[in-house]
This record gives sequence, structure tokens and C-alpha cells, in this order.
Amino acid sequence: MSGLELVDITKRFGTVTAVDDITLTVADGTFVCLLGPSGCGKTTLLRMIAGLEDPTSGDIRLQGERLNDTPAHRRNLGMVFQSLALFPHLNVGENIAYPLRIRGGSPASCEARVRELLDMVQLPGVEQRAITQLSGGQRQRVAIARALAVSPQLFLLDEPLSALDAKLRETMQMELRQLQQRLGITTIVVTHDQREAMTMSDQIVVMSKGRVEQMATPIEAYRKPASPFVADFLGQANLIRVKRADNGASFDGGFIPGLEVPAGAESLVSVRPEDVIVTSSGNGPVQADVVFVREMGANIEIYLDAGQERIVALAAPKSHGDFQVGARVSLTLPPDACVVFGAEGAH
Ligand code: ATP
Repeated sequence: MSGLELVDITKRFGTVTAVDDITLTVADGTFVCLLGPSGCGKTTLLRMIAGLEDPTSGDIRLQGERLNDTPAHRRNLGMVFQSLALFPHLNVGENIAYPLRIRGGSPASCEARVRELLDMVQLPGVEQRAITQLSGGQRQRVAIARALAVSPQLFLLDEPLSALDAKLRETMQMELRQLQQRLGITTIVVTHDQREAMTMSDQIVVMSKGRVEQMATPIEAYRKPASPFVADFLGQANLIRVKRADNGASFDGGFIPGLEVPAGAESLVSVRPEDVIVTSSGNGPVQADVVFVREMGANIEIYLDAGQERIVALAAPKSHGDFQVGARVSLTLPPDACVVFGAEGAH
């Protein structure tokens, strides 16, 4: 089996189970994000892959070879931490050359490689600069260049972009993704930012309480979330409790025609705000009151009360005049845009 395999990995710190029996495979050359709220175990999982933490149980394999007993410095990986951990007393060139020097690279070969790496991260000619003379984004690029200096088999990054402002973060997300695609290097990034994960990844691993809730492509996880947690964590979701009814599903506040849900107990249904159709008139299956309107520029967010349910919808900005606070409107929740979690999903 090729790629990186984690098999039944558990990590306990005393009574805390940080990672709880995780099994997953990262295919060669792919970009995978470990995504989840603070404390869900993503950093611990990354640190075990890096060899900075030993699993309590389970196996880590790379290209079929067990990695558990290989020390971190022999795992042939590049790492970038949130803090970047650049050496402030060394200039840019010396920082990037550091891992090459400790492996015995000659001054001339190190110099050539540093030049190549700086070109790669689009920072040519800054070898002599002090780290303190660089902007946040430039430091980020230097840290990436240093991590890739020894052409690692695995590239691991822990919240690498979280210290950057929003605009620069988006630019760096795209740069990082393009670089990864160019090099074809297997890359695992820890983030709690769902937008970041959606932008960069081939696969997202959504984690909660030490476990994997879902591993899927970004669009699959977004359109077909495996649990209410994933639906809610990836973007916005309306989670509505429904019961089976004749020809559809009903909830306190309306009806979803054509939606099949299990008989008996309540089910939880997720529907994305952009899929909710709001019309200012008509006798649709759901009547709702506009309670708040938020201008988002490209669209407007409309907060609606339908019986006991609060529903959020997105609409085009030109429709703002039709959806003033206090207006009574009609909603349609298209059944093919609804994801049903069944009774066990509805806690
Ligand atoms: P964050 O985004 O806040 O960094 P995370 O998802 O990366 O969170 P981890 O840092 O992996 O989460 O922590 C998972 C759990 O393990 C948390 O409850 C944390 O308190 C605990 N934990 C992590 N490292 C240790 C440690 N060295 N000793 C004891 N408990 C730890």
C-alpha cells in the first residue's frame, strides 16, 4: 500500500484521549487538511505523524513501512509550525541552508539550492536579509522554503497561515496549493479554518473529539455531510427537526414536500442557506417572518422565523427591498438540497 497510513491510532495524555482510534490513508501527492475545532486532536495527530509524539496504540506506515520507531529526524519530512520557528540570528539564506548544512551539504551546493528554493517561493535575491526585515508573508515563504530544502517525502504544516491577515492568508493559501501541485508532494495541514481547508485540499478530514467525522473531498463534505457536526462546521447549515408526514416531512413551522424521512422518531435535516428559496408573496409550504437582514456585499443573509425554527437564507442583493424586517415571506426547502441524518443524528 502506498501513501501514508494511520491504523487504529490512539493517543492518551493521562485521562485525556486526544486522538481516539483513527484510521485513514493519505494518498501520495495529495493535499489533506485536518480540520476541526480547538481541542479536537488535530495537532496531536500531526505530531504523531512527525514523530514528535508517540501513539499510545496503533501504527503509522509510510509506503507500507512501519514508521512508529523511526525518530523524527529520520522520517524525511518538512514541517512548518504556526510560530514558523525561524532562527532570528541567521539571515534568510542561512535559515534555509540550515537543514542542508547539518546533513553535510557543501557551501556551494547549499548556496545553489537556497537560490533555487527562493525562486520557488517567489522571493529571489533576499539571501542576505535579516529575518526581522521581512513581512509576515515573506517569513512564511522562507519557512516553507526551509522545510522543503531537503526534498522531504511528507510536508506537514500546523496552522501555518493563522498569524497572517485575511487578505494575505487567502493569497498564501493559493500559493501553497500551487506549490504543492507543482512539486506533487504529499502535504498535511492542520487548520481550524473551514474556508482554508475548502480552498486548498484534495481531501478534508473533519475531526471532533479525537475522532474522524468524515474524510472526503471539500465539495463532497459540503454537499453530503456525514453528520450534523460536519454540516454545521463546514459553512452554514440550517438544521431542522422534522417528522415523516404524507408526501413529505413536516416541522413546527412548515412542510418539505417530497422529502423522505424515516417514520417514527424525529430526524434532523440540513439545508444550506443558498438552497433556501425565499419569495415575498405566495402561499408556499413554509411561511416565515423576516427577523434580521445582513448585507454581505455579494449577497444578503436573511434570518427568518418559521414556527420554532430559525432559518437563514441567502438572496441576491437586489432583492433587499422585498425582504425588510417584519415582512411575511414564503420559503421553499428543495428536497434534493436536504440531507437527512435520521433519528440517530438528531440529538
Ligand atoms: P488547537 O486547534 O487548539 O491547537 P487541536 O485540535 O490541535 O487544538 P490538540 O492540541 O491535539 O488539539 O489537543 C487535543 C487534546 O489533547 C486537548 O484536550 C488537549 O488539551 C490535550 N493535549 C494535547 N497535548 C497535551 C499534552 N502534552 N498533555 C496533556 N494534554 C494534552
